[in-house]
Amino acid sequence: MIYLDYNATTPCPPDVVEAMLPFFGTEYANPASTHLLGRKAAVAVETARGEISEFLGCRAGDLFFTAGATESNNLVLQGLVLRQPGEKRIVTSSIEHKSILEPCRRLNEEGVAVVELPATNDCLIDRFMLDGFLESNTRLVSIQIANNETGAIQPIEEIVKICHARNVLVHIDAAQALAKIPFSLEKLDVDFASFSAHKCYGPKGIGALYARSGRARNAVVPLLLGGGQELSIRPGTMNVPGIVGFAAACRLASSDLRSEMARIAHLRNEFERQLQSRLSGVCFIGSNATRLPGTSSVLIPGVPADALIARMPSICIGTGSACSSGALSPSHVLLACGVSRDDARCVIRVSMGRFTTSDDVNFAIDEIQRNAEQILSFSSTTKAESEKIQVS
Ligand code: PMP
Repeated sequence: MIYLDYNATTPCPPDVVEAMLPFFGTEYANPASTHLLGRKAAVAVETARGEISEFLGCRAGDLFFTAGATESNNLVLQGLVLRQPGEKRIVTSSIEHKSILEPCRRLNEEGVAVVELPATNDCLIDRFMLDGFLESNTRLVSIQIANNETGAIQPIEEIVKICHARNVLVHIDAAQALAKIPFSLEKLDVDFASFSAHKCYGPKGIGALYARSGRARNAVVPLLLGGGQELSIRPGTMNVPGIVGFAAACRLASSDLRSEMARIAHLRNEFERQLQSRLSGVCFIGSNATRLPGTSSVLIPGVPADALIARMPSICIGTGSACSSGALSPSHVLLACGVSRDDARCVIRVSMGRFTTSDDVNFAIDEIQRNAEQILSFSSTTKAESEKIQVS
């Protein structure tokens, strides 16, 4: 199998699995227990928190473990915005992940004004409109760093400056940026950030919320009530193996992030160059923007993504967002970036990562070309035949 779906999830390398194994076996204690084994587990959790926060460029005390970016996004939106008294407004964008847009829909049903910034055809949010969208009751601006479908990277530093000048808190959904591009939360100066470990070679079911101490943190109201873990922001027995694996994944990423970025960007650029030279009309959504190094959103006009993928069982690639690929409706992100409904059905998402080789990429190019050409020739034959029938 050739795996080119790294934006959906990433494999857990042996080093990460090995780091976790003792915590399924001999080191199984609950870190809240006060006996020796419990204290050892607590030390493992705090060591991991220290390593992850160093990688993210934040204070360890500002990082709270959750089950992943979906939970972290909900905690900020529902815990922060919904529970505050008074008139409320939140500004987000039309190209956010469903784990932002769905809670926003709920907020809206509960009476919160929700405004979505539009995206340009280059898949960037229109930040020049942002200032005009901020009003005195705006509680939060929530914007992703990088898009899961197009890979387009948003100008977070400029967004933060605009928002902070108006005293508005900023949340970033950093699920796709983690370990793919370098960034520092302190330099970005954001108030909240969401992460999932499985997007960066860690295990599934663990993630984190960064909530800056002070005004931002004090405003968060927990969604769950329980035993007081994570300063009660996220109570519940801690996922020790997951947390240790998350830290191991960050160690791995920090060892070679820049060289991996360059290697993967080269593979992606070569993939796009070759495909463009072999298939006429092919184009890459968001390619005018700065993108995540391994992401390519490929539009092959007239070739439905579902049909193409079904013909290539040995290649794992996505259509639109993996989280919504069960649904037949075209991706909201592509539509928001100005892609027509017909074209949006003809977009495949190829995402490369740490274990992608040039052989994988060459194989994928050959397969995509061969199968796309077959689909196109089949549809032009059936079109010609149906025209013949209509004439006769
Ligand atoms: N935000 C973005 C941008 C994502 O790509 C994803 C995962 N597709 C999420 C949030 C949600 O992450 P998880 O499913 O790990 O909770």
